[in-house]
Amino acid sequence: MGYVITPPPAASLPVRGSQDLFPVHRIYCVGRNYAAHAIEMGHDPDRDEPFFFQKNPDCLVTGGGAFPYPPRSEDVHHEIELVVALASGGRDIPLGEALGHVYGYAVGLDMTRRDLQADCKKMGRPWEIGKAFENSAPCGDLVPAAEIGHPDQGAIWLKVNGELRQQGDLNQLIWKVPEMISYLSGLFELTAGDLIMSGTPAGVGPVARGDDLHGHIDGIGELAAKVV
Ligand code: MN
Repeated sequence: MGYVITPPPAASLPVRGSQDLFPVHRIYCVGRNYAAHAIEMGHDPDRDEPFFFQKNPDCLVTGGGAFPYPPRSEDVHHEIELVVALASGGRDIPLGEALGHVYGYAVGLDMTRRDLQADCKKMGRPWEIGKAFENSAPCGDLVPAAEIGHPDQGAIWLKVNGELRQQGDLNQLIWKVPEMISYLSGLFELTAGDLIMSGTPAGVGPVARGDDLHGHIDGIGELAAKVV
């Protein structure tokens, strides 16, 4: 049996040092996971229950490709984030087993139509139009945990046209990687191929066409994207 239309191509991420690709199933994103960012967005940085939204696998931009400025927004923001990739999943994963499900890590950007997201917040509507538009998830190559372990500290920063805009440390994550995995697995059945974008440190701000974005996380690598 065939398909009645041509199936869309499967989304994937390159793996550093490999010719093989990591196939992407879902993309979960955590909100307000660094206190300084929660404060800059006008929220209390208390350790409330984490909350999540999703992007779609085909939102990914890989291989250092360009980020096309999306339509219907005048205020597109950068959010540099640690991306966690799962090699396996399950339901109700115990905290102590969570890291055993991680394949590797990457540097990612949760690009956001901030003006449309703000409208959604005001009206109590879902965030998709602010968050899950095409090309909204530029992502660097995956680095296997088998090579680098599970980084829980180290600088995370983003430069725009060479100027430092966002800066934080992985040790500032309010909800740590094992906690995110364990919590999410109580809400969804996590599977191999799932990505988790772990939230952004302070310093989010607008991008413009022509900007060069350069993200970095210690021990994981770099991400470059040009806004076009
Ligand atoms: Mn984000």
